[in-house]
Amino acid sequence: MPAIKFRGVDFIQFDSLLNDEERLVRDTTRKFVEDNVIPIIEECNRAGRFPRELVKPMAELGFFGASLHGYGCAGMGNVEYGLVTQELERGDSGLRSFVSVHSALVMYPIYTFGTDEQKNRWLPAMQKGEKLGCFGLTEPGFGSNPGGMRTRARKSGKEYVLDGEKMWITSGSIADVAVIWAKVEDEGDRIRGFLVETDRAGFKADDVHGKWSLRASVTSGLSLQDVRVPEANLLPGTGGLKSPLMCLNQARYGIAWGAIGAAMACYDCALQYALLRKQFRDQPIASHQLVQEKLAWMITEITKAQLLILQVGRLKDAGKVEHQHISMAKRNNVWMALECARMSRDILGANGIADDYPIMRHMMNLESVKTYEGTHDIHTLIIGASVTGVDAF
Ligand SMILES: Cc1cc2nc3c(=O)[nH]c(=O)nc-3n(C[C@H](O)[C@H](O)[C@H](O)COP(=O)(O)OP(=O)(O)OC[C@H]3O[C@@H](n4cnc5c(N)ncnc54)[C@H](O)[C@@H]3O)c2cc1C
Repeated sequence: MPAIKFRGVDFIQFDSLLNDEERLVRDTTRKFVEDNVIPIIEECNRAGRFPRELVKPMAELGFFGASLHGYGCAGMGNVEYGLVTQELERGDSGLRSFVSVHSALVMYPIYTFGTDEQKNRWLPAMQKGEKLGCFGLTEPGFGSNPGGMRTRARKSGKEYVLDGEKMWITSGSIADVAVIWAKVEDEGDRIRGFLVETDRAGFKADDVHGKWSLRASVTSGLSLQDVRVPEANLLPGTGGLKSPLMCLNQARYGIAWGAIGAAMACYDCALQYALLRKQFRDQPIASHQLVQEKLAWMITEITKAQLLILQVGRLKDAGKVEHQHISMAKRNNVWMALECARMSRDILGANGIADDYPIMRHMMNLESVKTYEGTHDIHTLIIGASVTGVDAF
């Protein structure tokens, strides 16, 4: 790897908008990523390997369930938590995805919808990284429209019996517990969440192979055939599609920060490369106007994205955030990051396609990030519905 090392990105003294704890959390995470993720991530990406060895150190730094209170969780503010995801995704979107799913899609619903017994059983162990979780909402036939799901639960004595297929499930085959969303037959097909231990009879997880994106993250299909769980495994606070959507809102918030990390990694690499690389009259390519235009576009969009998500984070801390605010941040920031990755790749010329540099990996990762947790277009419709009052799904 050439002499290109991440230097941070701050054009308009964004740091001055953060408090001391927020800067400390950001800097601690940045150092963790620099020391532990950057040295191994290209190898993980090539091999399609999730760096499981990082789970314990991440737990020790309080990254899991970071914004939850009690159960050993760090009780971070929403901006602190966001800065953690930004820095993790500066390392790799796959690693950030793991943390988002574990925290926002598994610990959060247990915390929000679970019984004391469920919380005491799972949350401390998940905070320590001793137990891992996955979130099963998407099905082979139902992605953007999860309300169409076919997975069913039916009551049988003091148990529920679950049947169905889930697809594209992050961490599916490494999870100890799956939050499975199913229509409950005895309740008029109301959608409810269940905690399903992955070693139960009839539960199977098979990994998706041949991914060109999020290669350092595990993605699986889940099959549930007559999986029996005690009625105590129902998350009692869940009811209707609103429940999984509340979880997605948590995760989308982290994604909107995370995408900035990926964009920063690409921009900073492209900027440093442009100053070193010479073409025509022995001049650095950074001296050419068209290259500068790309760099100016990127730093402007990164800066706008930072301000947008910071405001959303402050609203979240104040209990005033609405789902359309989070949709705007997810939609804008992921699009922005993908554009930055494409422009940065272009600035590196042929070198841009090699994994001596992180850009192509980020670019491929961001294609998934654009699609999951509500596609770019679905968030367009959410914003459209919010401003017009008319549903256009
Ligand atoms: C790597 C990866 C990890 C994932 N992890 C998880 C996970 O952990 N848990 C989980 O439950 N899911 C997960 N997902 C699934 C993800 O959330 C879905 O892929 C996503 O919701 C989109 O669904 P789909 O792929 O079925 O696309 P579709 O819904 O089929 O959409 C295809 C295209 O049609 C467009 N479209 C659909 N409906 C409309 C409409 N009404 N108007 C306009 N355009 C429309 C979409 O915007 C998109 O462009 C993951 C996906 C990936 C790629």
